[in-house]
Amino acid sequence: MIEADVAVVGGSFAGVSAAIMLARARRRVVILDEGQTRNRYAHASHGFLGMDGAAPEAIRAKGLSEVQAYPTARLVDGRVTAITGRAGAFVLEGAEEVRAARVILAYGQRDRLPDIPGLEECWGKTVAQCPYCHGYELADRTTGLLAWEAIPMHHSVHLSDWTDDLILLENGVEVTAEEAARLDRPGLRRQAGRVVRVHHAAGAIEAVELEGGARVGMRALYLVTWQEPASSLGEELGCEVVETPMGRHLRVDEHQRTTVRGVFAAGDLARPFPSATQAASTGNRAGAACHQDLLGILV
Ligand SMILES: Cc1cc2nc3c(=O)[nH]c(=O)nc-3n(C[C@H](O)[C@H](O)[C@H](O)COP(=O)(O)OP(=O)(O)OC[C@H]3O[C@@H](n4cnc5c(N)ncnc54)[C@H](O)[C@@H]3O)c2cc1C
Repeated sequence: MIEADVAVVGGSFAGVSAAIMLARARRRVVILDEGQTRNRYAHASHGFLGMDGAAPEAIRAKGLSEVQAYPTARLVDGRVTAITGRAGAFVLEGAEEVRAARVILAYGQRDRLPDIPGLEECWGKTVAQCPYCHGYELADRTTGLLAWEAIPMHHSVHLSDWTDDLILLENGVEVTAEEAARLDRPGLRRQAGRVVRVHHAAGAIEAVELEGGARVGMRALYLVTWQEPASSLGEELGCEVVETPMGRHLRVDEHQRTTVRGVFAAGDLARPFPSATQAASTGNRAGAACHQDLLGILV
C-alpha cells in the first residue's frame, strides 16, 4: 500500500502537468497510469510548445521522467479499477492500493468511431477529427468529410483552409434545405449514399465504398467522433457530467474542482475539445489548486 497526499489518475499531458506542481510543492504525489493516451494512434503530435512533431509516446515519456526526478513523486503502472472514500481518505485500487487525501482525475476521453470496416485502421493517420492536429500534413488532398448522425456543418467550412477538394459523404444523414444552401460552395461536392467500407493501404486511405459498391477516391477523411470519459471512475464517485452534442465530460469549476469534494479533474476529461496544450494547462491549474486545497486556502 502506498500513502500519498494526492493520487493522479492518468499520466499524460494533464496528469503529469498536475503532478509536477504538487511535486514542486514537495507533496507526495502518485501517478497511476496505464499508458493508453488518446493520441496513441498518431505518429506525431503537433502544436505542443517545444515538441511540435514529436511522437506522442516520446512526449509522455519525457514528462514522466521529469516528474519522477522529484523525490516525492512516483509512478504506478496499470489501470485504476475503483476509487472509494472521501476528501482526506480516498482509496484507489489497481496494480497497487493507494491511499490519498485528494484525487486528480486526468484519465482523458476516448473517441467512439462509426462502425465502418477499415476506418479504425486509418484513425490518426489519414482519418482524423482535428484539422489543427493533422490538417497541415493532409493538406491539398482530395478529402472526405463523413456525416454521422448529423451533417458536420462546422467542419465543412473549417476545412476550406486545408483543401479545395472536399467531398461531403452524406452517409444516410438527411441534409436540410438550409444546410444544402450553405454547402453549395466552390471546392465542396456532396455525395449521397451510405458508406460501408474504407479501403486503405496500411492506414493510408484510398477510397470509401458506398452501399451498392461504388467507390469514391480520397486521400484524407475527417469526421466528428463521439467523445466520452475513458473510465467511469469519476461518475462512480458521483462527479457530475456535462452532456454536449459531441459527447460527455466531467463538470469542473474555475479551479478544476469536480462536484465531489476533494476530487479534481483536468485535461480532455474536463472539457469538450481535445488539445494537448490545453490539457497541460488545466493539469497545471488542477495541481496548484489541489495543493492550495490541502493547505485549506482554496476559496
Ligand atoms: C488521433 C489523435 C491525434 C491527436 N493529435 C493531437 C495533436 O497533434 N495535437 C494536440 O494538441 N492534440 C492532439 N490530439 C488530442 C490529444 O491527444 C489530447 O488532447 C490529449 O492527449 C489529452 O491529454 P490528457 O492528459 O487529458 O489525456 P490522455 O493523453 O488521453 O491521457 C490519459 C491517460 O490516462 C490513462 N488512463 C485512462 N483510464 C485510466 C485508468 N482507469 N487507470 C489508469 N490510467 C488510466 C490513459 O491510459 C492515458 O495514459 C489528438 C487526438 C487524437 C485522437
